Amino acid sequence: MKHLPAQKAIDYLGRDHRPLIGADRPVALTGRHFDTLDPASGKVIASVWECGAEDIDVAVRAARAALDQRAWTGLTADARAKVLWRYGDLLEANAEELAHLEVLNNGMPIGFAQWMVSASAVWLRYYAGAISRIHGKTAGDAINEPGRAMHAYTTREPIGVVGLIVPWNGPIGTFIMKVAPALAAGCSCIVKPAENTPITALRLGEIALEAGVPPGVLNIVPGFGPVAGAALVSHPGVDKISFTGSTAVGKQIVQAAAGNLKRVTLELGGKSPCIVCDDADLELTIPSVAMGILANSGQVCFAGSRLYAHSKVFDKVVAGVADFAAKVTLGSGFDPGTALGPVISDKQRQRVNDYIDIGRSEGAEVIYSGSAPAGSGFFVAPTIFVNKKAGSRISREEIFGPVLVATPMDDMEEILRVANDTRYGLGAGVFTRDVSKAHKIAARLQSGNVWVNCYGTVHPTMPFGGYKESGWGREMSSEGLDAFLEMKSVFIQLH
Ligand code: ADP
Repeated sequence: MKHLPAQKAIDYLGRDHRPLIGADRPVALTGRHFDTLDPASGKVIASVWECGAEDIDVAVRAARAALDQRAWTGLTADARAKVLWRYGDLLEANAEELAHLEVLNNGMPIGFAQWMVSASAVWLRYYAGAISRIHGKTAGDAINEPGRAMHAYTTREPIGVVGLIVPWNGPIGTFIMKVAPALAAGCSCIVKPAENTPITALRLGEIALEAGVPPGVLNIVPGFGPVAGAALVSHPGVDKISFTGSTAVGKQIVQAAAGNLKRVTLELGGKSPCIVCDDADLELTIPSVAMGILANSGQVCFAGSRLYAHSKVFDKVVAGVADFAAKVTLGSGFDPGTALGPVISDKQRQRVNDYIDIGRSEGAEVIYSGSAPAGSGFFVAPTIFVNKKAGSRISREEIFGPVLVATPMDDMEEILRVANDTRYGLGAGVFTRDVSKAHKIAARLQSGNVWVNCYGTVHPTMPFGGYKESGWGREMSSEGLDAFLEMKSVFIQLH
């Protein structure tokens, strides 16, 4: 039976969706709105005020004022930790509404949305605990010279005003993944949600105020990437941009941020390989490989979109993944049986379908092709290709949909060469029962994340990010916090 969206979520959609700037909910200075859709129906669910460059400027000034007044950093570390902890508690207290809004605006299955909310609460608590551990280091005796004694130490300070540009594929998770460490570091934040999914960001901003984040420390400015996003990236009053999105936009951001040499963290695209050795436990491997590409309908930056399996097990693995794909139900995220929701937009559906056509025209063999539900929702069924041709576009380009490209391969050196022969380097899966082999392969993969006998685990204690064109820097863990801190070296000559 279908779970209907909770009344609270429906009521929230009916609100006037204004930006959140300081303590205010001003109308956008553009005077314009944009529609936001439910991708499962293709229907408009809300209209949102559209921020432009002038609104971004107001938000930057509000964020700077909060920083200058030490509204947040002036609190004790313990008081700030309590606020972040409370923010996590309030996410849990509002979990149903948040998860339902996420399903309504993004289309993801309800179970995934619920996980995203509870994981976000965990991330907030992780960074609540990290606040009291922000400290520098002291130079040792080596700093001293004959006749000149020194005391030298470092301090960590918030970078300042930070622009956080989040994508549509995991709106709540990517929001908190950036906001939690930024707040822990003491920064003032301006969040620009993706134009497809502005709703939960606005709700998360309100909940932050309720948790005790002082006004101005977290501002939410919905709008379009090339307008609001670009204004934020080029604004001289912004000290850092943390961006999650496509590699193409990531490169534009690097250029646009050059004006005041903003610090930039980028979490970008991927074309992640899964390597299945001939000794792999296939019962464990097959569902992991299948969910590696099917989770969130393949709209995951680290989706395991390339499969390299030893020819001894190749047919079994591919048949198993096809069987898994045939059993997953596509539909509304509110149906409890749904494993695959829609993709985000008609444009994205078109893009994925175009790639499926490209694969066919490149001569790859379609081993499995499902059927998408009829109607106005943006559904794309899973497709599995077997591709033996090197250099084809479906094996090299990020599709961001439920499309797996499988290739049989026996020689591990060749597998590693091909697995690494990509401009990306975000994730990689390795399936083997041999622990030595697992370590050796993990060491050779040019990838920020390697998962052995599992796929896609993300945890706040572990840094997350990419090699090569998959990004700059790391999120999560202490590295994710460092990314929002400046370091100062202080030298004191002692007389
Ligand atoms: P996709 O193409 O998958 O939608 P994008 O990388 O375009 O992914 O979008 C990710 C985020 O980046 C969104 O919030 C979007 O609005 C924003 N964005 C897009 N273009 C720009 C830009 N030129 N400058 C800043 N932000 C942008």
